[in-house]
Amino acid sequence: MMRAQVQRSFGGEQAFTFEEVAEPVPASGEVVVAVRACALNRLDLLQREAPLVRGFSLPHIAGMDVAGVVVERADDLPDDIGPLIGQAVLIDPVGTCGVCDRCLRGLAPYCESLRTIGSTRPGGLAELVATPADRAYPMPAAMSFVEAAALPVAGMTAFHALTAGQFVPGETVLVNGAGSGVSCALLQLLKAEGATVITTAGGPTKVRRALAVGYDHAIDYRSQPIAETVRALTDGQGVPLVVDHVGPALFRESINSLAIEGRLVFCGTTTGTDTVLSLTDVYHWGRKLIGAGGYQPSDFVLMLDAMSRTGHPALIDSVWPFAQLVQAQRRMQAGDFFGKIVIDFLS
Ligand SMILES: [Zn+2]
Repeated sequence: MMRAQVQRSFGGEQAFTFEEVAEPVPASGEVVVAVRACALNRLDLLQREAPLVRGFSLPHIAGMDVAGVVVERADDLPDDIGPLIGQAVLIDPVGTCGVCDRCLRGLAPYCESLRTIGSTRPGGLAELVATPADRAYPMPAAMSFVEAAALPVAGMTAFHALTAGQFVPGETVLVNGAGSGVSCALLQLLKAEGATVITTAGGPTKVRRALAVGYDHAIDYRSQPIAETVRALTDGQGVPLVVDHVGPALFRESINSLAIEGRLVFCGTTTGTDTVLSLTDVYHWGRKLIGAGGYQPSDFVLMLDAMSRTGHPALIDSVWPFAQLVQAQRRMQAGDFFGKIVIDFLS
């Protein structure tokens, strides 16, 4: 048996309970990883309230960002495939089937049987988690389990958004929501490519924190008009690129922060999924709205490489023992964090 935080219903904190549950058995081509660290994501809490991702089912174990040690390999896994027992790994949570029509047409990110650890299959808020062997990557030697666990979802979302948004090194970019893990990963990647990064944050404390960690400008969205301020910061031009994962709350301001022919790439729904769009705000100015979409399995190593080339570890807000997972989740729910919140199973 293993200890896990299990979701059996929808709602508030009571939807999650700590339980002893059966240990995962590796399916064909899979390995089982002893979780050493698992980072939290908004999706953990969004899906506690209601299913959001197609394929979600109860009971569920959340936790998409896993680093750990391989403890078991499927019997059918050839000796030379996948990580060995005892290998420290970090996991790309997204698994694709490789055989469906979309996978065969090069559209693996939209695989008809896409299953994501911690989202549509059991995740890392447990002592053990099973994963396809080819999604478990050797952990870079210089990295701790906590640092590694901070990377997969935030790093991949950020890296892929910049690719989808056709970021050009040196551009000025507006990144909404200074303190989120994705924004902090964007900051890291953008600064390494000579970008000027403008962000938005709620309240003077977060604005100060944003400037301290390296954003070039931070706009307090509670007291300053975003688009107007962005324009003032860019000689009246607006920015060529906005990356947004906040959603409806800042959508119109984001569009109006764009320069003529600017691009808005969106990759998240923190404040909801539906928004109102002024068509003229977009087409009169030749602006482009880009849905980030999914990433190819091969992008994961490119992301790890890009993140390590920045020379900085992922920005971590706080580290909690598994026994204090509920308190860590409260911190995320309250929005009172800056960087990744990580559960350390070794503390
Ligand atoms: Zn497929």
